Amino acid sequence: MILHYDVFKMVLMITRLPPPQQAEDWQQQLVDGFTDVSALLTFLNLPEDAFAQQVERSFPLRVPRAFAVRMCKGDRNDPLLRQVLPVGDETNRVPGFSLDPLSEKQHNPQPGILHKYQGRALVTLTGVCAVHCRYCFRRHFPYADNQVGRKHWPDILAYLQAHPQIHEVILSGGDPLMVQDAILQAFIEQLKQLPQVTTLRIHSRLPIVLPDRVTPALGRLLADSGLRVVMVSHCNHPQEIDESVARAAHLLRAHQIHLLNQAVLLRGVNDEAQTLVQLSKRLWEIDTLPYYLHVLDQVHGAAHFAVCLSVAKQLLQTMLGQLPGYLVPKLVREEAGAASKILISLEQ
Ligand SMILES: *Cc1c(COP(=O)(O)O)cnc(C)c1O
Ligand code: SF4
Repeated sequence: MILHYDVFKMVLMITRLPPPQQAEDWQQQLVDGFTDVSALLTFLNLPEDAFAQQVERSFPLRVPRAFAVRMCKGDRNDPLLRQVLPVGDETNRVPGFSLDPLSEKQHNPQPGILHKYQGRALVTLTGVCAVHCRYCFRRHFPYADNQVGRKHWPDILAYLQAHPQIHEVILSGGDPLMVQDAILQAFIEQLKQLPQVTTLRIHSRLPIVLPDRVTPALGRLLADSGLRVVMVSHCNHPQEIDESVARAAHLLRAHQIHLLNQAVLLRGVNDEAQTLVQLSKRLWEIDTLPYYLHVLDQVHGAAHFAVCLSVAKQLLQTMLGQLPGYLVPKLVREEAGAASKILISLEQ
């Protein structure tokens, strides 16, 4: 599986990075990120953890320094650390938790495209991410089969052309902003050949975990696409939003890019009403609207993050009482084979 490889090698392979001396700052930051449990723990003034190192092997640790600096030193329960540090609970086998809970393999008509919902399709430009989130439902996804390089683009484009009802292309992943600007630009150029496509959406964690990825050049590239552009970031806790994240959001807004955020409800990270309320308020301060609050997908290795549904509903109810409606995300879950995300009703 791809996640076993060294990320930099993968980035080189997929996006043909220029030699390191020409790498952009954000690319250098990727190389300099934490890939080792003990280095991260030392940085945080925490004791070594042999068990974490053992668990890590199946889904290696990966954390940019820009994200690690927002963690509280000396706090093993830090909500940002919890999202990325391997723990023994990951090896538990829990009934109902499986390797491919969303049956994504079935809906993968060809490498690089996932078309489940009407009017929009997910396109994968790369399988790599800057950060490895322990709860990720894609932690077991066959990225190796989805190593879409440019050689797959003609087929992806042909699929889109054969389905003219697809008017929105969602770049997802992996993390689509892991590719270089030149690749992104080349793909957008191809999309522009399809008059049916009016909206480009980008699902990325980089504006949060590696905000220097959001360069003026990226902003210009997206603004010049001629498409309506929506950036959906992925931030789970208010502590993830610092000045550098605010700067990235501001840059995107200055290029007329719409900003939404999706979060995953995670036990021990953001399962308290005041945390979620603060998250919405922080997002609003950076011009970002909360879009979805996802109930955890039941993926093997993530059961210890699960929040029970009645608690989730109570949290939403509290948010409704304390926030304007536009700052309350939709509570949703995914169901294999469904035609959309499933909205969770708060009525008893
Ligand atoms: C989540 C998702 C989308 C986007 O759904 P929206 O409700 O439009 O945000 C599209 N395709 C797939 C396969 C998805 O999982
Ligand atoms: S950035 Fe997104 S796709 Fe990548 S590991 Fe985290 S949740 Fe999964």
